[in-house]
Amino acid sequence: MTGLSTVLSHHGRPDGTEISLVNPPICRGSTVLFPDLETMVAGRQEFIYGRHGNPTTKALAGLLRELDGPNAAATLLTPSGLSAITTALLSVVGSGDHVLISDSVYGPTRDFCTGVLARMGVETSFYPPEIGAGIAALMRPNTRAVFVESPGSQTFEMQDIPAIAAVAHAHGAKVLADNTWATPVNFRPLDFGVDLAIQSATKYIIGHSDGLMGVISANAESADALRATYRGLGLCVSADDASLALRGLRTLEVRLRRHQDTALTVARWLQDQPGVRRVLYPALPDAAGHAIWLRDFRGAAGLFGVLLDDAPFAAAAAMLNGLRLFGLGYSFGGYESLATFVDPRSSRTASPWAETGTLLRLQIGLEDPDDLIADLAEGLTRYRTAQDRAA
Ligand SMILES: *Cc1c(COP(=O)(O)O)cnc(C)c1O
Repeated sequence: MTGLSTVLSHHGRPDGTEISLVNPPICRGSTVLFPDLETMVAGRQEFIYGRHGNPTTKALAGLLRELDGPNAAATLLTPSGLSAITTALLSVVGSGDHVLISDSVYGPTRDFCTGVLARMGVETSFYPPEIGAGIAALMRPNTRAVFVESPGSQTFEMQDIPAIAAVAHAHGAKVLADNTWATPVNFRPLDFGVDLAIQSATKYIIGHSDGLMGVISANAESADALRATYRGLGLCVSADDASLALRGLRTLEVRLRRHQDTALTVARWLQDQPGVRRVLYPALPDAAGHAIWLRDFRGAAGLFGVLLDDAPFAAAAAMLNGLRLFGLGYSFGGYESLATFVDPRSSRTASPWAETGTLLRLQIGLEDPDDLIADLAEGLTRYRTAQDRAA
């Protein structure tokens, strides 16, 4: 092979000899080559085409499946957390079916149900997140799925998942859980009656705010339909992103412990500050839902809500705009702290948000707790100053 074009096509490619690195290689690739036509036609090769996976994505999915526990029969990787949610729902429901969705659910999940699913002839009802076994009253003969998110990632209600799952299964419906807040380190949904456990790996799993991905783990009864839906939709993730997620997973547990410790320190401090009405964090002993958290969860994430006394929007802006260590951003799970303004009134339909104060959401990162507290202390002073000025 001497022609320049042939050299460009054939040099510098793997020759099958291996190197023993600690981490799996990043296997970029669409085409997988077969040694001969017989193998190709028989489909007798583990990897056959890029979309169906490669050694990098296999390593990641295998580790995530292990984390989700012995009931995980299949674990699939999707391009985002939202696509994990929509794929899991599409694997369970079809035209003429009915789904029950927690009123505290992540906004885009709600929009998918009222938009795409409605257009496909699937009807959605929203239920109060703290309904527990009372969900029985809302089950219909065509209810195929009950979707839970515990705690709700904006308002932090804990849900009694075992009670909801018992009712759903008695009515022949599947239970889907968005487990992004807890991750399987702190809660394994499939151990508590959930059929499809979903996460946005964008958050704690990737953990460094530099990638997007979703994960779905299905139990044995739900795995075939999930695989078929996933394949049909043509989903896959890149090996580069899979490599980032694998790297994130190595430190997931230690990061989560530190997120929890710092979040608890900051949350307890906030509880004692003038003008703070309530801290919405299930790990606090006096928080709503603490008993369920203690019963079912092994730890807490670093994301919680803070309800402040009423003030004009300008007071929240004065507080958040001046924060030095908290970025203004919608995500969480990275190493850096974030703050957002939350308005649950605009979305809820089954359990209207009755609180009148200002609701903020804080993602507590891996910074020194004292520095975060000092930043928030100055922020609260700005909030109260703006509040007084308006009064
Ligand atoms: C961020 C998030 C999602 C969506 O994840 P993406 O990776 O951004 O698509 C879903 N559920 C919850 C609870 C989230 O916080």
